[in-house]
Amino acid sequence: MSDVTETHCPYCSLQCGMGLAPGADGPRIVPREDFPVNRGALCGKGQSATALLAGGRLTGPLVRDGRGELVAASWDEALDRVARGLRGAREGYGADAVGVFGGGGLTNEKAYALGKFARIVLGTSQIDYNGRFCMSSAAAAGNRAFGLDRGLPFPLADIPKTGCVILVGSNPAETMPPALRYFTELRENGGKLVVIDPRRTRTAEQADLHLAPRPGTDLALALGLLHLVVAQGRTDEAYIAERTSGWAETRAAVMSHWPEYVERITGVPVPQLRRTVELFCDAPASMVLTARGPEQQAKGTDTVGAWINLCLATGRMGRPYSGYGCLTGQGNGQGGREHGQKADQLPGYRMLTDPDARRHVAGVWGVDPDELPGPGRSAYELLDALGTDVRALLLMGSNPVVSAPAAAHVEGRLRSLDFLAVADVVLSETAALADVVLPVTQWAEETGTLTNLEGRVVLRRRAVDPPAGVRSDLAVLRGLAERLAPGRAAGFPAEAEEVFEELRRASAGGKADYSGISYGRIAAEDGVFWPCPEGSPGTPRLFLDRFATPDGRARFAPVTHRPAAEETDAEYPVSFTTGRVAAQYQSGAQTRRIAGLNEASPGPYVQLHPELAARVGVAEGDPVAVLSRRGRVVAPARVSYDIRPDTVFMPFHWAGEGRANTVTNPALDPVSGMPEFKVCAVRVEAAG
Ligand code: SF4
Repeated sequence: MSDVTETHCPYCSLQCGMGLAPGADGPRIVPREDFPVNRGALCGKGQSATALLAGGRLTGPLVRDGRGELVAASWDEALDRVARGLRGAREGYGADAVGVFGGGGLTNEKAYALGKFARIVLGTSQIDYNGRFCMSSAAAAGNRAFGLDRGLPFPLADIPKTGCVILVGSNPAETMPPALRYFTELRENGGKLVVIDPRRTRTAEQADLHLAPRPGTDLALALGLLHLVVAQGRTDEAYIAERTSGWAETRAAVMSHWPEYVERITGVPVPQLRRTVELFCDAPASMVLTARGPEQQAKGTDTVGAWINLCLATGRMGRPYSGYGCLTGQGNGQGGREHGQKADQLPGYRMLTDPDARRHVAGVWGVDPDELPGPGRSAYELLDALGTDVRALLLMGSNPVVSAPAAAHVEGRLRSLDFLAVADVVLSETAALADVVLPVTQWAEETGTLTNLEGRVVLRRRAVDPPAGVRSDLAVLRGLAERLAPGRAAGFPAEAEEVFEELRRASAGGKADYSGISYGRIAAEDGVFWPCPEGSPGTPRLFLDRFATPDGRARFAPVTHRPAAEETDAEYPVSFTTGRVAAQYQSGAQTRRIAGLNEASPGPYVQLHPELAARVGVAEGDPVAVLSRRGRVVAPARVSYDIRPDTVFMPFHWAGEGRANTVTNPALDPVSGMPEFKVCAVRVEAAG
């Protein structure tokens, strides 16, 4: 019998398969060529993942003492303190004075248990999670158009079989390098790749066509393309009549977006718009894939909606090797939004406002449906209410001091809390502010399921024992339930598979139905695609016969152009945008601990065009200051022709004076609650 444990990477939504074999100095990674998503390939983060299991992590609870220092404590002492802190806020100010903040990296079991804990132990409506910052606008647009939100409605393996992919605001060459091969194979098969990004990224370098719009103008760009499709008679009228609704209003909305007008808004020349339409429509099958670029905007839902309109009008959605998809970011970005840690949802992607959903889930939980609170605030609204309406917070698997928009403001709100408890693997910047820090297990030390960007549910297996003194998030919730609601503690098992069995029942009949999925099936089948009701083989491809709307038709969204929430002006004349680099991940709490990754990407930088650099008087490596209405950051200049002259870029993985999110705008998309991370107005100055 093999001593290799088959498991998955601790980081992004690709959830690359890997094996862990015992080694003299701890586990070593062995490739899993058989796992279809990555076929043995791993990026630098995945290759170095075992370093996360070594030193530099928390090994025992910490509590803040009378002098304000974090000092070692026993688990009983720490959990008692958390229970007292949460109970105190509830008794003093009401149940909604207690907040819960989760993460898109938590397993399905943890996300499920956290949502249940918030609602039936704390009785609070105030729970949301950092996935709200990730792809919530694409989720809202998918629900609006198709009646269902699954990032990719088809497996990644369909990409090489299509004829053209428009990749909007996505840079897989850096964010998920093993996925790049799907696009390479597409081109080897004669397919075309169009990349839309204000920067010439490593992904854009491989494209047949690169469009570089002004940040925040992707909506206008999509409208301009659809205008051309209509003007050139390239719509699929039979498909529109048979499978969609709302075309007349959408067609009317699009007709005012002339190519020349769209060129003025976006900066993309009309010939490039025409060429894009040609490549997209000439192919018998084609796809639009979005990521954070168009999604992290205060009009993110409408922006994604405009790209979906393009796919619907050309008859691409729900046909083989065709359609719209979102490349989710975080490890469990998909599953994390399906099982109840989202402010408005119950497990199975059910809505909290739906009486039938409340009845079903309350039945599984053994409580009265009337006891379940209603929807709460979205993630940024919740963070913004800390210290005022929300007095105590339990936070798991997130580091908002680095990753939230207007991060200096959010840090201030966290500091103003009466009580903060953080469960994390490391003493992140957010954990460092806590009254109690609970050290928890991580990927290879625990078992649990995640749902990758394709909707494939995979199983991460425990391969090593955690350090003594560390407990799982599930055990933390159990310990807190024992203290806060002893009669309900039995509903919070510490074993992941036991939680999953309950999740199956809670999700049965919901949109994200996992009832037919078991740990055994996942192991035997290299993951199972939801929806998967009992007895189903799973559903790798969605919408082939009908959409998940009441009438089975996809719904067009008649959206029109509007500017960014904060436009450039004389005082702040440059657009600011953010993103990731290959060697770091999200807030950097994990990857900044890894020597090899830090060597590859040691710190933040400001990428700017030589014209802008000359105007402000900075050269390569000089310290450059970026100022917005929310704050000032400083980082070395990286002078490059690979960015628009009117735009600067910073990666967002670091804290301190190079914290990119100090600058970003928390203006929210009214539909999804997504903040406008991807564009705001700044001034750039030499900081030397
Ligand atoms: Fe891990 Fe993502 Fe890299 Fe794959 S692409 S190895 S899942 S970080």
